[in-house]
Amino acid sequence: MQLATQFAHAGLQTDPQTGAISTPIYQTATFAHPAIGQSTGFDYSRSANPTRLALEQAIARAEGGSAAFAFASGLAALSTLFSLFSQGDHLIVSEGCYGGTYRLLDQIFARFGISVTYVPVYEAGAYAAAITPQTKAILIESVSNPCLQVPDFAALLALKQQHDLLLLVDNTFLTPYWFRPLEQGADVVIHSASKFIAGHNDTIAGLLAVREPELAARVGYLQNAIGATLGAQDAWLTMRGMKTLALRLAAQQANALAIAQFLQQQTGVRYVLFPGLPSDSQHQKIQQFSSGFGAVLSFAVTDTALVEQIISRLQLISYAESLGGVESLITVPEIQTHANLSVAERERLGVSDTLLRLSVGIEALDDLLADLAQALA
Ligand SMILES: *Cc1c(COP(=O)(O)O)cnc(C)c1O
Repeated sequence: MQLATQFAHAGLQTDPQTGAISTPIYQTATFAHPAIGQSTGFDYSRSANPTRLALEQAIARAEGGSAAFAFASGLAALSTLFSLFSQGDHLIVSEGCYGGTYRLLDQIFARFGISVTYVPVYEAGAYAAAITPQTKAILIESVSNPCLQVPDFAALLALKQQHDLLLLVDNTFLTPYWFRPLEQGADVVIHSASKFIAGHNDTIAGLLAVREPELAARVGYLQNAIGATLGAQDAWLTMRGMKTLALRLAAQQANALAIAQFLQQQTGVRYVLFPGLPSDSQHQKIQQFSSGFGAVLSFAVTDTALVEQIISRLQLISYAESLGGVESLITVPEIQTHANLSVAERERLGVSDTLLRLSVGIEALDDLLADLAQALA
């Protein structure tokens, strides 16, 4: 079955009693037991909830995992995932990862004795060089933020196998519609479902999909033990969003490509970063593992005054954090998503004060182009 069909049917027929097409929202904390020693399969909603389970099964299927787990946010999913590791363990993480991931590792898990080496996203040799006897896992993002660089996924898969490491892939930017890392041999996929999967800028949610049943059982244990689970209402909203994922992504990607090409021709724009552009340095590499390019692009303008002008003049495109939703959003990574990095670190990662990141929505292309044109004029 094709993915568009799978997405549209997420959670279909989970209620045989009524035949409800849309999964009911089981807004209940607990479940009555038929008798002593018996269970309906649901005991308490932290441990399992039918609405959340429908979402978890839909994402497990989409990612090709043996199981999936839903959390209160992407960072709740990552916190649970990092709890697989113990004092003394070492992780290798790609640079340019989500700011909250850095913060979680450097400010919280570091206190528990879990150390991290950050390496350039695309330099496969740097991952190999960072491996120590304590290394347990490599964490990458399918596309880095905000400079939209992609890893050499095949080389990292080989490295993972050679050294018996877990390969963890934050697939928020590409979603299973374009990239299914588990099918290619990765161990865990992470999503901030707040972004493309829920897709309407109306829900905060996180997901983990796991390839092997044994690891899935450990993650499932942690999900219940830590308890940062997704509520039934938000599980329903996430699943509702997921139903239109294929349509949205096709429209968003087409808009993003047209906008990237438009921006390339503007005199106030120094360069555009979008892996979908044939001229982009990442264009060939991303196609080795992904069938799509995403709908987030970044562009650098000639000076900071122009950054202010664009932000203040844009009417249709909102100046707001986050990405992946149907509404287009623009951010200034230097002062928003990447503000907690040092100046030197930002410089090294290419996060300058003239860089803007645009998450492209499903609005009519002409309206988006007109808004950008008047803002740049
Ligand atoms: C937003 C984001 C996260 C964090 O997810 P939340 O749902 O905001 O907690 C993690 N990784 C990436 C790539 C993100 O974009």
